[in-house]
Amino acid sequence: MFIEPKRGKISEAKSGWVELICGSMFSGKTEELIRRLNRAIIARQKVEIFKPAIDTRYDESDIVSHNQNAIRSTPVNSAAEILLYAGDCDVVGIDEAQFLDDGVVDAVNKLAAAGKRVIIAGLDMDSTGKPFGPMPALMAIAEYVTKVHAICVICGDIAHYSYRKVLSDNQVMLGEKESYEARCRKCFHLPKP
Ligand code: ZN
Repeated sequence: MFIEPKRGKISEAKSGWVELICGSMFSGKTEELIRRLNRAIIARQKVEIFKPAIDTRYDESDIVSHNQNAIRSTPVNSAAEILLYAGDCDVVGIDEAQFLDDGVVDAVNKLAAAGKRVIIAGLDMDSTGKPFGPMPALMAIAEYVTKVHAICVICGDIAHYSYRKVLSDNQVMLGEKESYEARCRKCFHLPKP
């Protein structure tokens, strides 16, 4: 589990910082994001949570993870909107960051420079195994990167690929258990039936 380093109170710290949680589908990324954000909320820190408007799988404004643990969030159409709405909060959470534009890198750097703790979650690879959107750049600029894993549905090994079970050329295809499954490196490359 990620243990926050001692950095003093956010307001007293010299600068903010960036945490990134990445992994495949079914790896618990959003649960980990919610765990960190909820603890900040309990400590009465001001928390704002954003997610791309494109991700409306469950609910328009809630970050909802697979275990129904929900937290209120603001849908945004661009990374610039995050800067606009982050205001005077202490902690900024961003879910499904792989769907945001490349401007999110600059936005996140600005938020951290303004003294905020920024916690990002997202898919690091698309269903073809390629790095997804701005995630590689976000991983590079983050102080702390946590890679979480799923379990391969074929063999039970550690999985870090999101295998798409249905044919589609669209990189952005939202869907749940019916469309994707977590697979390990070996099973991800098995010939298609
Ligand atoms: Zn496997």
